[in-house]
Amino acid sequence: MDRPDPNLGKIVVAEDVLQERIRELGKEITADYSERAPLLVGVLKGAFMFMSDLSRAIERPVEFDFMAVSSYGSATRTSGVVRILKDLDLDLTERDVIVVEDIVDSGLTLAYLRRNLAARNPRSLEVCALLVKDGLQTTDLDLRYVGFTIPPEFVVGYGLDVAERYRNLPAVYEYTGSSPQ
Ligand code: 5GP
Repeated sequence: MDRPDPNLGKIVVAEDVLQERIRELGKEITADYSERAPLLVGVLKGAFMFMSDLSRAIERPVEFDFMAVSSYGSATRTSGVVRILKDLDLDLTERDVIVVEDIVDSGLTLAYLRRNLAARNPRSLEVCALLVKDGLQTTDLDLRYVGFTIPPEFVVGYGLDVAERYRNLPAVYEYTGSSPQ
């Protein structure tokens, strides 16, 4: 980029801090799953970059699957009704599942996903969320692994977008442009 993007505010999580924390999360998961090969379930599209780096920080055999759900742009925020746009390819029966999420805002998406995946009889079901917005969750989400707790402002970068842009930024930025949703 030649000029700074006027829609980007301050850096919320810098690239080196992000990568260091992901290495730590990888170590934790490696230790916790020493006897098991976890199935990482990535929530598209936002989690693709985190999933990629996290998986390389886990020194265990892992398997991958992806799910796509509708988030903003519908009535999701208020209703908690989430639409599955792409379902998993794999059967979860007796699997040790780790849901890999980019960001938890109200927590409604994750609460729905957890219920939905738990009904498929996995042996275990944990959540690894890179970012959690401070104080906005209405239900107890039982997040086993959390990267960072951040202030409740709209952010982009490292997989997170506005209208499909900014996903390739290597750090997380505050978005200061208009109408992000
Ligand atoms: P929740 O259901 O927790 O309110 O929202 C979760 C989903 O909303 C995330 O998976 C993500 O797609 C989107 N989201 C929430 N907060 C942000 C944000 O600050 N920036 C971006 N780009 N997406 C967000």
